[in-house]
Amino acid sequence: MSQPPDLDARLAAEIDARRDDLIALTQDLVRLPTLNPPGHQYREICDYLEARLAATGFTAELIRAHGSPGDSDRYPRWNIVARRDGSAPGDCVHFNSHIDVVEVGQGWSKEPFGAVLEGGRIYGRGTCDMKGGLATSIVAAEAFIAVCPDYRGAIEISGTADEETGGYGGVAYLAERGYFAPDKVQHVIIPEPLNKDRICLGHRGVWWAEIETRGRIAHGSMPFLGDSAIRHMSAVLHEIETYLYPLLAEKRTAMPVVPEGARQSTLNINSIHGGEAEPEPGFDGFPAPCVADRCRIIIDRRFLIEEDLAEVKAEMSRMLERIRAERPSFTYEIRDLHEVIPSMADRDAPVVRTVAQAIEKVLARQPDYICSPGTYDQKHIDRIGKLKNCIAYGPGILDLAHQPDEWIGVQDMVDSAKVMALTLAELLAR
Ligand SMILES: [Zn+2]
Repeated sequence: MSQPPDLDARLAAEIDARRDDLIALTQDLVRLPTLNPPGHQYREICDYLEARLAATGFTAELIRAHGSPGDSDRYPRWNIVARRDGSAPGDCVHFNSHIDVVEVGQGWSKEPFGAVLEGGRIYGRGTCDMKGGLATSIVAAEAFIAVCPDYRGAIEISGTADEETGGYGGVAYLAERGYFAPDKVQHVIIPEPLNKDRICLGHRGVWWAEIETRGRIAHGSMPFLGDSAIRHMSAVLHEIETYLYPLLAEKRTAMPVVPEGARQSTLNINSIHGGEAEPEPGFDGFPAPCVADRCRIIIDRRFLIEEDLAEVKAEMSRMLERIRAERPSFTYEIRDLHEVIPSMADRDAPVVRTVAQAIEKVLARQPDYICSPGTYDQKHIDRIGKLKNCIAYGPGILDLAHQPDEWIGVQDMVDSAKVMALTLAELLAR
């Protein structure tokens, strides 16, 4: 430790003294129902954050992601990037949180936007994913500034739109405009709810595609006069079951993905549609007897940092070509829908080492290093911003995200705030 030994204790005491403020801030944020889709109250929450952060000397920029998916005058995609420079040059530490929350859904016993505090937990949509994490990073920064007003470098706190729908009107938009350029920002922490003692280094990759098989329509009483696209698709599904799934199970990764079942390549068939369309609501007549001339599936292939996206696609094409060689009249088309490259910070990256050290001090245990089975905004920071020194670290239990009666534990937020404040001290005030 190069700091005077009492600095950690002073930071911890400063956070403890702000416990009620941390609760109140989280409650205020949750009570702004920033539902996405469609993107409610983005401007309101950015205005709130601007006022809050101005009190500690942050200067905020409010940026609307004009032209991004879903952006309209009715539902503008607002983002906030607030910055506070220290008194000498140095690194910039950036905390990025998404401001949007997913729909409420059924099954709640608590008021979804009431943010009620009960038994040391705050309940509500967005408490754990991730307004609790946003509030935690703000209080950590405020406490750090109070204890170390003469720090070097800069602190940035951003609240960004649309993470739940891909982040194109949020982090991707900002990254494309240089907000995460490595000469501007050196360390990024995304306070997603990965648990206060775990460091999330990155995530697997994603490839979505639509596969369509073709046939010929005919009367259902004489199917031999047509050619069933559904039967062709069943051959595809059979091949996925018997050939592809065993193959994917063998592709293991060195990425520490949790849960354990996701530590390999996976494939989900998101949907299947074939033959006659579903009847319109209110129509209760019979379907017509026809041979299906089209069948489509949408696949969601999650791939590993050890895999190459071009090879992932080629593997699927080879499988389809093999079916074509074996089945007379088999025709298909495959269309790319969406892709994300895997991202993983180095275990030795400065932000990883610093947060790990802070976790050890605050929680008296070694952190777990994990990777996420799904993606989050780190993808944009890595691919567009070219910034590798980025992790997800924040309070809350990931399994509660998007669930009814979502909650965040107050003590988890307090502990995480201490980890974040110690991290700031190590990077900016050592
Ligand atoms: Zn989230």
